[in-house]
Amino acid sequence: MSDLDTLYDRNKEFSRTFDRGDLPILPRRLTIVLTCVDSRVDPAHFLGLELGDTLVLRNSGGRVTDDVERDIALLSGMTRLVAGDGAPRFSLAIVHHTDCGLERIAAPGPRQALSQSTGLEPKVLEKLAISDHKTSFMDDIERLRASDLIPPGLEVSAHLYDVKSGRMSQAVPPTPLNKD
Ligand SMILES: [Zn+2]
Repeated sequence: MSDLDTLYDRNKEFSRTFDRGDLPILPRRLTIVLTCVDSRVDPAHFLGLELGDTLVLRNSGGRVTDDVERDIALLSGMTRLVAGDGAPRFSLAIVHHTDCGLERIAAPGPRQALSQSTGLEPKVLEKLAISDHKTSFMDDIERLRASDLIPPGLEVSAHLYDVKSGRMSQAVPPTPLNKD
């Protein structure tokens, strides 16, 4: 049985008793979660998210990228479109994790090898690489602050999820971006 067959079997089972087809498009919670694509780091599991709970953005490392800036702007704008002037304001929780693949390209050697094998720019990889979580959190928050696309009142927090213990701990408490 292929992976895809397995996934379809699981979906068939899921849809057999599905009774949440009437959920509204706006999520119940106003915290957007940004985290890594790592298969061990699924917020539906470690944050106990239900369908309709919250918006989740995932990419390699859970880093702030051009796409993330665009998505936050898009989601905020779409919410205003759906809910009008009284639209809820989202906050953002950045969640990185221990043993992230991006820690493995912290050193120039592996980064160079990855650049050569993928064609990705060394500078792009350097920005994505995680050598120290505290620094990565600060870089991500600073990038949001500097972005023209991000709503000025966005409140941002940062957290580290431990893949060994399943525990998440707060690295940066919720703080408004205070853009000038
Ligand atoms: Zn990761």
